[in-house]
Amino acid sequence: MEKKQFQAESKRLLDMMIHSIYTHREIFLRELLSNASDAIDKIYYRALTDDNITFDKDNYFIKIAANKESRKLTITDTGIGMTKEELENNLGVIAKSGSLAFKSENELKDGHDIIGQFGVGFYSAFMVADVVTVITKSLGSDTAYKWESEGADGYTIEPYEKSEVGTEIILTIKPNTEDDNYDEFLEEYRLKSIVKKYSDFIRYPIKMDTTSS
Ligand code: ADP
Ligand code: MG
Repeated sequence: MEKKQFQAESKRLLDMMIHSIYTHREIFLRELLSNASDAIDKIYYRALTDDNITFDKDNYFIKIAANKESRKLTITDTGIGMTKEELENNLGVIAKSGSLAFKSENELKDGHDIIGQFGVGFYSAFMVADVVTVITKSLGSDTAYKWESEGADGYTIEPYEKSEVGTEIILTIKPNTEDDNYDEFLEEYRLKSIVKKYSDFIRYPIKMDTTSS
């Protein structure tokens, strides 16, 4: 399978994420939850103008699932999903979030500042994960896709099986090191407290499913 390269700007942000200081790491969940919520909003707005789509609020939610054994943290949404082109354009390029545009070159040198203050977007997942996998099926599309990246050296996209419209973001959480604890991001109490801290702007229910193993 062909590995595609991130654009230069994206690489720079990725690098910043990978070397972020620990106090900022938890915000990855804020970013992924806000993307999930935005994706559900998009279905909601589509339904307002498209009679073929009915928006029943009960069917729309976000789910967080953690598995300590496999070290996988999965954020699932029932939002609008992404086509192959959208995966390429939205996750392969940094322009979307615009966070970098607020900052001058000089300020960028101290990346920590940005991470604390602005929405840094999808790439923040690389603060806590070695591998980020996105499985997604777009509304109205027959084919689902799997996007996967281990960070700076690029990403792959391939067709995948998924029956429901929406997106699943699977983080393979980094192993602990002598100085850094990542296990916490697989702990239910820790995840719950992060959700509580950042979920003010999330307009849909967030379900939690953690295995005790
Ligand atoms: P922003 O949310 O500011 O646009 P992000 O880096 O957080 O920037 O996300 C980039 C883009 O990727 C989003 O604008 C959206 O188009 C797409 N995206 C990210 N997560 C999802 C998701 N869960 N469902 C659908 N699209 C998504
Ligand atoms: Mg976002």
